[in-house]
Formats: sequence, structure tokens, C-alpha cells
Amino acid sequence: MGNMPKVIKGFKEETVTISYPEAIDEAGRCYLCHDAPCSKASPVQTDVAGFISRMRSRNFRGALRLIKETNFFPGITSRVSPYDEQCEAVCLHKRYGGPIRIGELERVLADFDRGSRRPYLPEIPESIGKSVAIVGSGPTGLSAAVELVLNGCKVIIYEAARVAGGVFTKGVPSYLISDDVIDHEVGSVLSLGVDLVTGINAGESINLTSMKQSFDALLLTIGMEKSRRLDLEYCKKADVFTGAEILESLKLKAKRLRLGEKVLIVGGGNVSMDAATALLKLGVGEVTVIYRRDREHMPVFESRFQMAHRSGMKIMYRTMLDGIICDSQNAISAVKLKKTVLKETEDGRVVAETVADSEFTKDADTVIYAIGQQLDRDLVDQFDLETNEMGRIKVDQATSQTSDPFIYAAGSCVERVDTITTALAKGQLVARNMVRCMLEKGGGR
Ligand code: SF4
Repeated sequence: MGNMPKVIKGFKEETVTISYPEAIDEAGRCYLCHDAPCSKASPVQTDVAGFISRMRSRNFRGALRLIKETNFFPGITSRVSPYDEQCEAVCLHKRYGGPIRIGELERVLADFDRGSRRPYLPEIPESIGKSVAIVGSGPTGLSAAVELVLNGCKVIIYEAARVAGGVFTKGVPSYLISDDVIDHEVGSVLSLGVDLVTGINAGESINLTSMKQSFDALLLTIGMEKSRRLDLEYCKKADVFTGAEILESLKLKAKRLRLGEKVLIVGGGNVSMDAATALLKLGVGEVTVIYRRDREHMPVFESRFQMAHRSGMKIMYRTMLDGIICDSQNAISAVKLKKTVLKETEDGRVVAETVADSEFTKDADTVIYAIGQQLDRDLVDQFDLETNEMGRIKVDQATSQTSDPFIYAAGSCVERVDTITTALAKGQLVARNMVRCMLEKGGGR
């Protein structure tokens, strides 16, 4: 434990939303392209020219309605998804005064809806007599729930945490998005008639035989909940955390983590950068990120890297953790690091190998791992589902069914999912596959 421990607490959202007149001016710059590239680059295929056209004529409600046809969570995605790397990256206005700020326009509309007396809710169609249970209420599960309900299904979601939302509520720091936005958009899913049961450990509480009697299908959107750690020798009182733990504590204040003054974070993704930014905002004296490869290999959004960089993050490339040194109190006093060299494999991948005799030490009192997540296998083993060579749930690509055809799976428990908007698209796709399969199978309840 460090000399001046920090007790983690939350932040206020720092996102600045443009004014209505600014938004209308910005909408006025759009070419309203036919066959717009921005829509094709959007993981959920948002009709960008369509909603901007409505915005220009000050039809905010109509514009929002159009967005919500393909993205039920625009307040969230416009704050945390990398629009600059998706739809804005291909905007035809890019070379002439910069791309249209699609994300900011969506945010204005989402905030307008949230602040209105009657926030938009779509009409619910007639029941098709099918009922679905979903395990996991992250972006993929919520998005699937919306799509299933809008196709006439009855839906119940089981969530292990005490609040719904998955990465929305546990993983995105409050300085990027306020709880109000999340509560509104997650709440609007429940307003569609979706039932939610929280605080339920599916592995212990869900019996597959009774599930098969009560539902037409079960969907697993359980993400990759287990944080990876390196196999090292730790101090007895080692202050070793995971990035996910840090971010969850900030959001839910579930655990009071006491951190030191010299924090070392291992890993170069968004979780690593978000944890670094959060700790520096809390006033931690020094936060150093180590990464095995170079900047261009880091799986991080540019905006999140820049935020950590502006907050004062130090970074060491081509460096890996090799050991932890403890003091007489069995607390961390330093870390052993090694330098790496990059080599390209035959299939074009860049791998990092340690350099012989390159060991050195660095003072540190807290270590945080942000080196990726893995599948929590409890439920998978309980349901006896097949997994693939990547350790994820194996599904039929055409139907999204697992090795048990009653059980479907989607999201990061099945494949790599880089952004929240992509996770939403995966939820829509699995829901459409489920509806098609359930209707082909016939029956109903
Ligand atoms: S590509 Fe750019 S200019 Fe064209 S419709 Fe999309 S946002 Fe508008």
C-alpha cells in the first residue's frame, strides 16, 4: 500500500454538447449524400443523411426517431463510440472544412429526447407468441432485447450485477458519460415491456431443463467478464488490481480500493487508458502505462489515448512486466521490467519478444492489469457448450445457435467486439436470427 492511499470515488461528465443553433448550422453543412458512405461505415447502418435532413428542418423528434430505428442508445454511443474512426472517418466533407460532426448531432438529439416531457418510445407490435430469456444486460443483450420486443417477442433479462447495463454501467467512466444518460436509455428498454431480474447468478440459479419448459429460446450475452492476470509471484498484501475492477469501483462504488502514489498499468487498450485517466483525475501522483509493442499497435481509440496523455499519463513502449518486488511490510515497492523487440510473423502479425539481459526496476506501489478479458466458463461448462480455439462460445454463423440449438450466443463471448456500437449491431443480428429460427420451428406459448 502506498504512502498516501487514494479512495476511489466518482466523477462528473465532462462531455460538452453543442447548442441547438450550432447543431442546425452543422446539419446545414451536410451534402445529404445519396448512398452515403457514413451510413455504410456505421456498425448499425444509421441513416445519417436522413436524420440530418430532418434536423435541418428542425424536426428533432423525427430525426431522433430515425436514429432509434437502428440505434436505441444514441446518447451513450455518441459519447463513447469512436465516430471519428467510423462514420465521420469516411464523410465526404472531410477534405472541405472537416467531417460533419455526426456524433455531436446525435448527442444533441438524444439529449433533446431525454429532456422532453414525452421521450420517444416505438410502438410495440402484436405478439408472435414467442418468449426469450437473455442472460446478460450489456449492450448486446439490451440491443437484442429491443429487437426481439419490436418483433413481437416477450423478453426477460437476467443480470448478475445489481444494476443493468453491463459495460455501460460498470466500464465507462462517469467523466465520459453521466449516470442520467445511461439510466434513461437502459430504462427506455424496460419501458418497452422487457422484464429484468438483477443480482442473479445464472450459473447457480438457472436450470436449463426448466428454462426449456418456460421459454422458446435462451440467449447468452455474457461478455468476457474475467480479467486476465500475469502468472507472477505477488507480495502477500499485493495491491494488484485489474483495470475493470478500477473502472467498476468508480462507477458503482461497489468496492473501496486503496491505491498508492506510483501506479503501473500493464496494457495498451481503452481500459488501460481509461483507468490511467481516472486515476490521474483523482490526483494519483504518477501513473505509468507499459505496453509490449509500439503506439501504432495499441488497440485503443485515439480520443481515449489523447485524454490519458493530456491527463499526464507516462508511457513506456516495448516494455513488459517481469516481476514484483515487495518491501519488509510485504507491500509492493518496485516492479521488474524487461524490454522487448518486435518481430513480424509469417502471417503478418507483430509479436513482442523479450530482449535478453534487459531487466531493470522501477519504483511502484500499485500494479493494475489491463491485458484483456476472458470468458467466465461457469455457465458455459454448466450448459456443456462447445468453445472455439479462441476460448469463446462456438456458434453457427447463419443462426447464432450454440452447440445446444435452444441456446443462442452473441457479443464478445462469441467474437472480438471493439466498440459499443458494434456490440449493439451484434445484438440486433442475433435477435433477427432467433426470430427467424423460432418461427421456422413453429409452436409458441
Ligand atoms: S458523408 Fe458526410 S456529407 Fe455525406 S451524408 Fe454523410 S455526413 Fe453528410
